[in-house]
Amino acid sequence: MQRTFIMVKPDGVNRGLIGEIIKRFEQKGFALLNAELMTIDRSKAEYHYMEHQEKPFFGELVDFITSGPVFAMVWEGENIIEVSRLMIGKTSPTEAMPGTIRGDFAFCKEENVIHGSDSLQSAEREIENFFGLLKRHRLEDDFPFEDRKSV
Ligand code: UDP
Repeated sequence: MQRTFIMVKPDGVNRGLIGEIIKRFEQKGFALLNAELMTIDRSKAEYHYMEHQEKPFFGELVDFITSGPVFAMVWEGENIIEVSRLMIGKTSPTEAMPGTIRGDFAFCKEENVIHGSDSLQSAEREIENFFGLLKRHRLEDDFPFEDRKSV
């Protein structure tokens, strides 16, 4: 079992795509462990995108991601890091295949609806950045996935 960090970006929240995105992850059989609508400050955004800090688009990316609320989530499932990246689709709309979230809903590479961690290491770091060490297991401890299936 793996955990990953998935975030509906401000454009996705604004366009009313939270429900559609949750639906796709639920239908795939993944378990939602934590979720929160939040507006993040620049330091959280800069830490989140630190691998891009030297890129020319870094400033605009931080402007964008702090421009309105994001819907931050922790999901769990088998091979979820690889599978969620497939479900999300490629960064650029000219490469994102129809059927993927970006392929179906995104039309530019800057504002592309959704973020998903690309490795176990980034998932850990991103979950901690958004939910903190103490909070990240909260929902699962209260309500384990095995119990939820039988409800
Ligand atoms: N991005 C951008 N301009 C670019 C490339 C990326 O604004 O030329 C943004 C875009 O929002 C993307 C994020 O930076 O989702 C992170 O880029 P990455 O290459 O890690 O893509 P992802 O993992 O999100 O597909």
